Amino acid sequence: MDFLRPASWEEALAAKAEHPTAVPIAGGTDVMVEINFDHRRPEYLMDLNRIGDLTEWEVGEDTVRLGASVPYTRIMEHLRAELPGLALAARTVASPQIRNRGGVGGNLGTASPAGDAHPALLAAGAEVEAASVRGSRRIPIDAFYTGVKRNALAPDELIRAVHIKKADGPQQFSKVGTRNAMVIAVCAFGLALHPGTRTVRTGIGSAAPTPVRATAAEDFLKAALDEGGLWDNGRTVPPSVAQQFADLCSAACNPVDDVRGTAGYRRHAVGVMARRTLTWTWESYRGTRRLTEGAA
Ligand SMILES: Cc1cc2nc3c(=O)[nH]c(=O)nc-3n(C[C@H](O)[C@H](O)[C@H](O)COP(=O)(O)OP(=O)(O)OC[C@H]3O[C@@H](n4cnc5c(N)ncnc54)[C@H](O)[C@@H]3O)c2cc1C
Repeated sequence: MDFLRPASWEEALAAKAEHPTAVPIAGGTDVMVEINFDHRRPEYLMDLNRIGDLTEWEVGEDTVRLGASVPYTRIMEHLRAELPGLALAARTVASPQIRNRGGVGGNLGTASPAGDAHPALLAAGAEVEAASVRGSRRIPIDAFYTGVKRNALAPDELIRAVHIKKADGPQQFSKVGTRNAMVIAVCAFGLALHPGTRTVRTGIGSAAPTPVRATAAEDFLKAALDEGGLWDNGRTVPPSVAQQFADLCSAACNPVDDVRGTAGYRRHAVGVMARRTLTWTWESYRGTRRLTEGAA
């Protein structure tokens, strides 16, 4: 196995163009496991750790540009206000050691349906900045996951950053596992309220071949919130609406039975998480409204 160590982004793109089968390594928390278990024996490993730009982030007016290799720990420490859903998801990843190494670029590279960043990225609305010597492009997160552990990257492309909309309302992330830490999700759910556009976005993990959104549930909830004037009057979401939203989220799943859980359990758990995260986010939205009105 040859080890490539580009010193700059341009060198990395040139190396990937020359060796499209080269496997990039960032934190190595997925790659090294695969190599150790002999599931993968790449001809070339390409270390991205000398490219400083990949571990930096920039907070813009509407979005955060998150370098592909920013470790989860940094997201939890520095981006909780801008990216609350992703920060909550980051907290549930593995252990402090893994969170100090692993990041969102690696989660996207692996594209496991169980990756914890995905529901939060889907709910917030993100774009993946992919680049090659041919140029760079933005891939909407909804189009990024193309199959089980498959993504939309071309063989000569690398992920440079992820552009994520800054939260304009409450966000939540919920994960079911067999214990509280160091656990791959049996299933996971992300929810983001976007009061600016009066929309709601979801993200479901580990309950379909790819991470997915529950778009019918989102549309239903948006219509129910609009119809009841709830964004303006700040009333609680009627239990029947919350239940219908939960049922539509369950229906968006296409899970399998595996060692971590049955398909039926996953569908049920996604519904429970959908209802709970809706209650948490809506209560938080109502609280913010009361504070704003009180201050006015
Ligand atoms: C003990 C343990 C527990 C774990 N628990 C969790 C968990 O709870 N939740 C969770 O989601 N994950 C978990 N993981 C998996 C892993 O930590 C995450 O997927 C992490 O986000 C990977 O990031 P990384 O930087 O280490 O990726 P790497 O291992 O370096 O790379 C992962 C994949 O992405 C590709 N890649 C990396 N960077 C780029 C780039 N810039 N452009 C293109 N491709 C790239 C690599 O080639 C590889 O295919 C766990 C892993 C271990 C070992």
